[in-house]
Amino acid sequence: MVLDDLGSSLRGTLDKLRGKSRLSEEDIEEIVKEIQRSLLSADVDVSLVMELSDNIKERALEEEPPAGTPARDFVLRIVYEELVDLIGDSTELPLEEQTILLAGLQGSGKTTSAAKMAWWFSTKGLRPAVIQTDTFRPGAYDQAEEMAERAEVEFYGDPDSEDPVEIAREGLEETSEVDVHIVDTAGRHALEDDLIDEIEQIEGVVEPDTSLLVLDAAIGQGAKEQAQQFDESIGIDGVVITKLDGTAKGGGALTAVDQTDSSIAFLGTGEEVQDIERFEPDGFISRLLG
Ligand code: GDP
Repeated sequence: MVLDDLGSSLRGTLDKLRGKSRLSEEDIEEIVKEIQRSLLSADVDVSLVMELSDNIKERALEEEPPAGTPARDFVLRIVYEELVDLIGDSTELPLEEQTILLAGLQGSGKTTSAAKMAWWFSTKGLRPAVIQTDTFRPGAYDQAEEMAERAEVEFYGDPDSEDPVEIAREGLEETSEVDVHIVDTAGRHALEDDLIDEIEQIEGVVEPDTSLLVLDAAIGQGAKEQAQQFDESIGIDGVVITKLDGTAKGGGALTAVDQTDSSIAFLGTGEEVQDIERFEPDGFISRLLG
């Protein structure tokens, strides 16, 4: 059964339904409250939590459980379906030639994710390259080069250049023989205009097949504005959630997915290049509710 890894509080509430074949309105209220608590503490946006819980409540009250289905399983199924409906499947990434652009604020984990994703594509038999265009953060070039080395993938950057757009252009030319170009960009501490201008120009040169927004799992309610701004400027096709090895549950990613009408591509689960997983809804939903 999906969702068997639930948090103790929600599981306790659901366990009270064991043996019941019908749910009372009170039962449903109690479950929905528990789910709201879990989602809010996982940093899911308040209005999304309300929308989800309204849908769950409505369906649990109106739909008839299929004959022989215990009430507990019936309501769990609804919760799961509603969350899957919102989160969706992982962002489609065909195993073929492509260019991926990474966007996000400084410290979100872009440089690390670029190397991780390159490593991931290399395990699928493709030849990837990381192109580092971050001329803003001191040390970004060295870090990217070192990580690309650890991932055993090709790398292009220019520590002497201050022109990220030119680096992107040259990077694509210099690595024209590879299959997958992963273009890392500079972040800033906040969504300043020059950051947005810069990434728009890079996007114009790179013409990515897929643009991914990299978000720290701890982002919380700030996800909405970031997602909106990056989506307006370059169009976001998917989200990468990093630092899921920490305590944060990554509920902000749901806001970003909802805001950009996209999906989740990858999860980052550590500092090493191999610490990356392709997104799959089940584990993530269990974690959100846990
Ligand atoms: P950027 O400024 O967006 O390029 O962010 P970096 O890639 O430099 O990452 C910022 C910090 O977060 C670095 O210390 C990384 O090692 C760390 N980091 C990135 N992804 C993860 C992750 O999935 N788990 C953990 N624990 N740390 C991460």
